[in-house]
Amino acid sequence: MANYRAELVGVFGYPVDENPTVIMQEAAFRAAGLNWRYLTIKVPPEALADAVTGLKAFGMRGINLTIPHKRAIIPFLDQLTPAAELIGAVNTVVNKDGKLLGENTDGKGFIMGLRQDAKLDPAGRSAVVLGAGGAARAIAVELALAGAKRIIVVNRTPERGQELVGLLNKRTKATAEYVPWQKPYSVPAGIDTLVNATSIGLFPNVNDVPKVDMVSIRKGLLVCDVIPNPPVTAFMKAAGKRGATVMSGLPMLVYQGAIGFKLWTGVEAPVAAMRQALEKEFANG
Ligand code: NDP
Repeated sequence: MANYRAELVGVFGYPVDENPTVIMQEAAFRAAGLNWRYLTIKVPPEALADAVTGLKAFGMRGINLTIPHKRAIIPFLDQLTPAAELIGAVNTVVNKDGKLLGENTDGKGFIMGLRQDAKLDPAGRSAVVLGAGGAARAIAVELALAGAKRIIVVNRTPERGQELVGLLNKRTKATAEYVPWQKPYSVPAGIDTLVNATSIGLFPNVNDVPKVDMVSIRKGLLVCDVIPNPPVTAFMKAAGKRGATVMSGLPMLVYQGAIGFKLWTGVEAPVAAMRQALEKEFANG
């Protein structure tokens, strides 16, 4: 018998027009032969409750959350994964027969990028995270849960940095410390990974780089950016010139989406098709 009904997922955000996730997820559905659709939905903050009611009424299989809904969605959910609870933000919701489960796949996507693309297992390692916003929190918490022994958080606003460090020290086994960011940060010896988890370098300010003493960047250090587009940020270029290995935000973006795809569909994500679709999109501007 014919079935013309597609399964629905998508993203709630505000603004959301420029969110590229639809490109990646629709490519994945095509590659996996699934009749699913990913909808990019503009939801102003005051309409989130109605949007959740709509999601349930439409029997949507799940939803991604982006600015400004990642924290605001939590009261509407029935359950959180332990990592989402620790991070205090949700970017992926799974609708299991009307019960909503919240997960945060951002940091997990970053860790998969470390393991699979950079071939680095964070267990027992030491990392510096620049920033203490949403992406930085997700990355720092997942680094700690993956067994990183030392995490230094460098942030402009002390309260946010100190709060994240407090959380890591209280709720995970990692040893965390906060460093105020007033002058160019010098990466200490013994650090394996440096992550720019700030929005510095994001379009249109693509020539901006985080304030880091470039002399402290050396061969053997892995320097990661969370910004997926431009594919090679000015910071990655400068770090590469110093002999460091570099990784962009693209693996993080692809893998966080791949984890969501598997949670929603139960099918292994066609990661290569997802990456290819985004690379093509970003190459086109
Ligand atoms: P937030 O607004 O939550 O956090 C921004 C962070 O950047 C804060 O720590 C802020 O510091 C810092 N920051 C911004 N401007 C400056 C500056 N001029 N000097 C020093 N610090 C600065 O944003 P998100 O964490 O949600 O996003 C951060 C980046 O991560 C964005 O570029 C986003 O595109 C990217 N991202 C990538 C993902 C991926 O899959 N690749 C997934 C999610 C996000 P302060 O606290 O002092 O304000």
